[in-house]
Amino acid sequence: MRVVLRPGASVTATPDEAERLGLRRLLVVSGPRGARTALAVADALGDACAGLHAEARMHVPAEVADRAVEVARAAGADGCVAVGGGSAIGLGKVIALRTGLPLVAVPSTYSGSEMTPVWGLTEHGAKRTGRDPSVLPRSVVYDPELTLSLPVALSVTSGINAVAHAAEALYAPDASPLVSLMAEEGVRAMTGALPRVAADPADLDARGRALYGAWLCGAALGATTMGLHHKLCHVLGGTFGLPHAETHTVVLPYVLAHNAPAAPEAMTALGRALDTDDAPHALQQLSGRLGAPRSLAELGLKEADLAVAARAAAGQAYPNPRPVTVAGVLDVLTAAYQGDRPQTKPRPTRTDPNR
Ligand code: NAD
Repeated sequence: MRVVLRPGASVTATPDEAERLGLRRLLVVSGPRGARTALAVADALGDACAGLHAEARMHVPAEVADRAVEVARAAGADGCVAVGGGSAIGLGKVIALRTGLPLVAVPSTYSGSEMTPVWGLTEHGAKRTGRDPSVLPRSVVYDPELTLSLPVALSVTSGINAVAHAAEALYAPDASPLVSLMAEEGVRAMTGALPRVAADPADLDARGRALYGAWLCGAALGATTMGLHHKLCHVLGGTFGLPHAETHTVVLPYVLAHNAPAAPEAMTALGRALDTDDAPHALQQLSGRLGAPRSLAELGLKEADLAVAARAAAGQAYPNPRPVTVAGVLDVLTAAYQGDRPQTKPRPTRTDPNR
């Protein structure tokens, strides 16, 4: 996969990337709010643009995917350029999955989706995800200028969403030394950039650092298997309609505090990246200081939903450093609901029912 990262690259580099891939009829996809940016990319592609389809929506609803595939086929497209956040890139991935067309990604948030072979599709209210090498973008064009319009609130939560990928990659069963280095550096770059972005959203250098962080964190996600944090956020988003990046931001410190006793090396790496000996607390402080929501109650979850969500998240099989139990997940959710300080408990003993 090629990566280009420089200011202005969305319009100056995307046509070159298309040419390198031998693509002459690209369908540009985006969400409705990203249409103006996508139009600039389409204009830059000139004759190599076969059309602009600005109908991406969060979590790729099946009917949105069907329509986009139809449009790509009708336009005789030989490739697809997805311009926008994880939602636009998600639509590009499903087009790639269904048609085999090569994908070029031009990300405008820090979600990191452009670095993974993971696709998602929502049918009958349930989101399915899968891995397929064909959906991994052939080329990624990071343009810090594109992210200048990303509001501070979304910049912060989308950035912490990226940090969540890296944090879970650090304790994944398929972690490896190189991926762990990337994950740690991704956390360092992102958490260093976010306060600068919040202080001055027009700081192009800070925006570039955040994209570099998103690149590393996304690559760590693509290379490993995610644990409790991602499953829990999937349940909270899918079943209770909570907003994606905000939910990741609120939940992450609590899952990390829960997993910490069973993942000491990951916590040491996170501590190095954040310059702290209490990574869960430092992350909660950082996002709170930058104005992010602090509790699941603030995001609109009801207290009665906690037990339902705990059962749903504990009822699936996936790797996690601490065995996942309903009681353990309920503890995490209750603390995140209240927005308490995340408490890292000592390593559980063999008789601990949460083990
Ligand atoms: P998003 O793409 O839904 O964008 C959020 C909002 O921000 C939208 O309204 C969008 O129009 C707006 N926006 C995007 N870029 C902007 C910019 N530069 N300026 C102003 N507004 C802008 O949100 P997201 O958090 O990037 O992505 C979330 C989706 O991505 C979810 O569906 C999630 O499951 C998926 N995702 C997938 C992976 C993966 O590996 N497959 C990884 C991360 C996220």
